[in-house]
Amino acid sequence: MSDSRISTDIDYDRDGKQVGYLNVPNSTNESGWGTLLMPIAVVKNGRGPTILFTGGNHGDEYEGPIALMKLLRALEPAEVKGRVVIVPGLNMPALMAGQRLSPIDGMNMNRAFPGARRGTITAMIAHYVQTQLLPLADFVCDIHSGGRSMSFLPSAVVHRLDDADRMRKTLDAARAFGAPVGLVLKELDSEGMLDTAAEDMGRIFVSTEIGGAGVVSPATIKVAEIGARNLLVHFGICQGNLVTREAQGLAPTRLMAVPDGDCYTAATENGVYEPLVDIGETVTVGQLLGQVHDIERPGEPPAEKRAKRDGLLVCRLGPGRVRRGDTIAVIAVDL
Ligand SMILES: [Zn+2]
Repeated sequence: MSDSRISTDIDYDRDGKQVGYLNVPNSTNESGWGTLLMPIAVVKNGRGPTILFTGGNHGDEYEGPIALMKLLRALEPAEVKGRVVIVPGLNMPALMAGQRLSPIDGMNMNRAFPGARRGTITAMIAHYVQTQLLPLADFVCDIHSGGRSMSFLPSAVVHRLDDADRMRKTLDAARAFGAPVGLVLKELDSEGMLDTAAEDMGRIFVSTEIGGAGVVSPATIKVAEIGARNLLVHFGICQGNLVTREAQGLAPTRLMAVPDGDCYTAATENGVYEPLVDIGETVTVGQLLGQVHDIERPGEPPAEKRAKRDGLLVCRLGPGRVRRGDTIAVIAVDL
């Protein structure tokens, strides 16, 4: 454990429940020998698989931190066979600031992997996860939401994998999570992601996109809480039954894909975005998804944004303000 500059009193091999901190060196003008105290919990009982849960990878996504704090408070060793490692605020400085990126070094945690021992604070944290936590884990669940800028139909998110057996296990986990949608995503930019780091290490990895727009709701928190618990049961770490969507009177998880660039619509103008279709609605190619109004030229017609393919709108812009290059809409198709 000496490879990282981050230290901890947590003993990952000890049975029982430990709630403690990762001590991240953080020398500042205000605190010369200062440390960022990053919460971490481990609940372990005997032999069995290990799951790593992370929330707050982006600091403006709150379902993960809330669901994981509730899980770490409730989970007792007697319920567990194996080990549960919980980091509710992976980008702690960003979470404290309520923003996507770290206010200390401006970095995106989910582009910082594999990190660097002597890097900035975000790189140091990523390096700790890469070298100390991922090697412990059989399964990894990183709970994201849409953040301030996007709003998502609650989805368990996985990537297309070349290995058929791992793809099947990953899809099974996505289904077990129990969100309305299980999304097989082609990332626009996957280098440096925790997802990629975990997958490259052969871990079964499930991410999520649950809600967003910088807010939380009872419904989205429920999806995250049930999902995390369901994964514990699905992977055999906790006894009991899955809380299935059917048992909640809901339609089963709809497995969908975002196979190519035509699924994404980006803004090419600055202005105010008027959505004409909401998440969860079916769209057809050519349909008007929304329009961008130029507040400086109110007499001009708005720029129309049309669907480039048929499918289900799973994500749209969160705030009303839109800038050139913002993702306005993501369309998914049935798998
Ligand atoms: Zn995120």
